[in-house]
Amino acid sequence: MSYKFTSDQLEIQALAREFTAKEVTPRGRDMDRDGWCQELYEKYIETGLQATPIPEEYGGAGLSDVECAIITHELAKGDAGFAMAMEISWVATDMIRRHATEEQKRKYLTGLAEGKLCSFCLTEPEAGSDAASMRTRAKKTENGYILNGSKAWITNSGIADYYVIMAKTDPDKGAKGISAFIVEKGTPGLIVNAEEDKMGMRSSDTHGLSFDDMEIPKDALLGEEGMGFVYAMEGLDGGRISCTAISTGLAEHAYQIARDYSLGRVAFGKPICKHQAVAFKLADMAMYTEAMKLMLYDAAELKSTGARCSLQAAEAKLFASTHATQICLDAIQILGGNGYSKEYNVERLLRDNKLMEIGEGTNEVQRIVISGAILK
Ligand SMILES: Cc1cc2nc3c(=O)[nH]c(=O)nc-3n(C[C@H](O)[C@H](O)[C@H](O)COP(=O)(O)OP(=O)(O)OC[C@H]3O[C@@H](n4cnc5c(N)ncnc54)[C@H](O)[C@@H]3O)c2cc1C
Repeated sequence: MSYKFTSDQLEIQALAREFTAKEVTPRGRDMDRDGWCQELYEKYIETGLQATPIPEEYGGAGLSDVECAIITHELAKGDAGFAMAMEISWVATDMIRRHATEEQKRKYLTGLAEGKLCSFCLTEPEAGSDAASMRTRAKKTENGYILNGSKAWITNSGIADYYVIMAKTDPDKGAKGISAFIVEKGTPGLIVNAEEDKMGMRSSDTHGLSFDDMEIPKDALLGEEGMGFVYAMEGLDGGRISCTAISTGLAEHAYQIARDYSLGRVAFGKPICKHQAVAFKLADMAMYTEAMKLMLYDAAELKSTGARCSLQAAEAKLFASTHATQICLDAIQILGGNGYSKEYNVERLLRDNKLMEIGEGTNEVQRIVISGAILK
């Protein structure tokens, strides 16, 4: 890959890589069966990596989107669900970093740097791709707001300390009537519904949320009233770069398993990698993962300059998630019957990556973003 990391970035990569190899990879299969692993998260906090994007004045490392992409990419080589749980907290963190008041930053960013987790709450049971059609209502009162409604498929929702929630303050104004709020765990009226029994990303924690006359103070508002949808879309640009990092790390993992297996497995008197049909699959895997990395770090670098990167993030996510699915399928094929067994891990990678074609905007939504930008 021709993308050049600085020596500091290489140090972070080495730290994330070592942590992944020692702590994440060995737990991957158990977490797929048992779900979220708090013990792993506590070990992760000890590395300090969770504080990477938080400014130094709030206890973080003050580093950029490139360092965040490096960490997510490395974690995903061990377990995509854990990488996703970490990156989605950063999506909400980024919204707080950009738009919160000084008082809110001092409270929430400091907490997040210390290891608290955040949820990003946009999707509703009746509003996913068309998120602006959400029904959750935040009614203004003398002292603040009362929220009623529900959210669906919220990552980290059973384990989060903070929730960034998008809700309608002015239902007649469509997307311009949506505001963002920071809500703390345990707020009366905040109900965490049953955990979702998912196809993949099973190490991440996912629930729906209900808001039953949930009263929150005025200072729970994040940024300006009516700007919540814009903030959420900006946040999702970063989220889509993280999805690219996850698909890239996961695809490299699948490629590695298939390559190693093909060197050792013998059929018709030679290692299967000497059969051209297998070798060509490996060649395609190597080529696509290389291209994914370039798109990933190109988009991350653009975002780190502060420029809007919706097009690049959508292109990178669409490319990486689509080809990672094909890479996982090809890896399963190379392993033959063993590819179909949980023991060899590639079937888990396929299940995990499928979400990257759906979450943080489906691949159809990415094509809407890309075509909208190129045909403007
Ligand atoms: C495991 C998991 C974790 C998630 N975590 C979060 C989270 O932390 N926070 C959060 O807010 N959300 C989260 N989501 C929700 C996710 O972002 C949505 O599922 C996704 O945006 C799609 O919305 P939907 O499921 O309602 O599908 P729908 O919007 O109902 O779409 C159904 C199908 O129709 C297609 N479609 C819709 N509109 C169009 C169109 N205009 N043109 C072409 N095709 C279209 C879609 O592409 C899709 O194929 C998560 C989802 C999952 C499964």
